[in-house]
Amino acid sequence: MTEASPGTLEQLEPLVARVLAGNPSPYTYTGTQSFLVGTSDVAVIDPGPDLPEHLDALLAAIAGRPVRAILCTHTHRDHSPLAGPLAKATGAPIIGCAALVLEDGGPRADAAFDRDYAPDRVLADGERIAGEGWTIEAVATPGHTSNHLCFVLIESGALFTGDHVMGWATSVVSPPDGDMSDYMASLERLQAREDRIYYPAHGPAVERPQRLVRGMLGHRKQREGQIVRLLDRGVHAIPDMVREMYVGLDPRLHGAAGRSVLAHLIDLERRALVRVDGDRWFKV
Ligand SMILES: [Zn+2]
Repeated sequence: MTEASPGTLEQLEPLVARVLAGNPSPYTYTGTQSFLVGTSDVAVIDPGPDLPEHLDALLAAIAGRPVRAILCTHTHRDHSPLAGPLAKATGAPIIGCAALVLEDGGPRADAAFDRDYAPDRVLADGERIAGEGWTIEAVATPGHTSNHLCFVLIESGALFTGDHVMGWATSVVSPPDGDMSDYMASLERLQAREDRIYYPAHGPAVERPQRLVRGMLGHRKQREGQIVRLLDRGVHAIPDMVREMYVGLDPRLHGAAGRSVLAHLIDLERRALVRVDGDRWFKV
């Protein structure tokens, strides 16, 4: 499939259409993809960044139909900030993931988070919302962020995976809000499901999702094994591990790779396999 240009409406299947936002970057690939679900009335999944041209594109795609819900998979700044303006423009409620409790500007208050996100209703795992001919169910998938939800369209078996599973890259898991043990458990949860197709917020649809998830679980176990071997070889600092583990990675992504290595180390520490002394890590 050729890449869509920002603002173009692509009909992916009878109940699902997609609009790309104009925010490409090393983290967002071609940009955030917002999804419209439904025909005579719709839900919008991941309205995206607060860009006036993306709001215009979504309103054109909605074309005056009632919007039953604005759903957010999580509250990173490339996913949820347009929820407020879109709610104002359409009168639709914001329903979906919880807002994060960012504790007094402490370490969770990462610049990547949307602090203004204010849902009208939070969906718990397994809760549903419905319109004319469509039903969406929340699937709790913490890990990339603690509040991450996927959404399944019951009528077609499509799963909207947000940033939990993407076809073009592995998800960044950045502590303390990102949690590798939760992330792995959420991958296992998807592996046990039988969704037909995944629509990630970034990158192309995934048509053989179980195979991809199995590969991702294997990839994370491989990364963990690499870290343990580096510790054995006397490599104790995260930047040195990143240099050895991510040969050829875009240098702009080295910081994010370091966060994922830290997430693995915290997971290993919890399992009493490693310990930390200052910023140096050791096998127990
Ligand atoms: Zn994200």
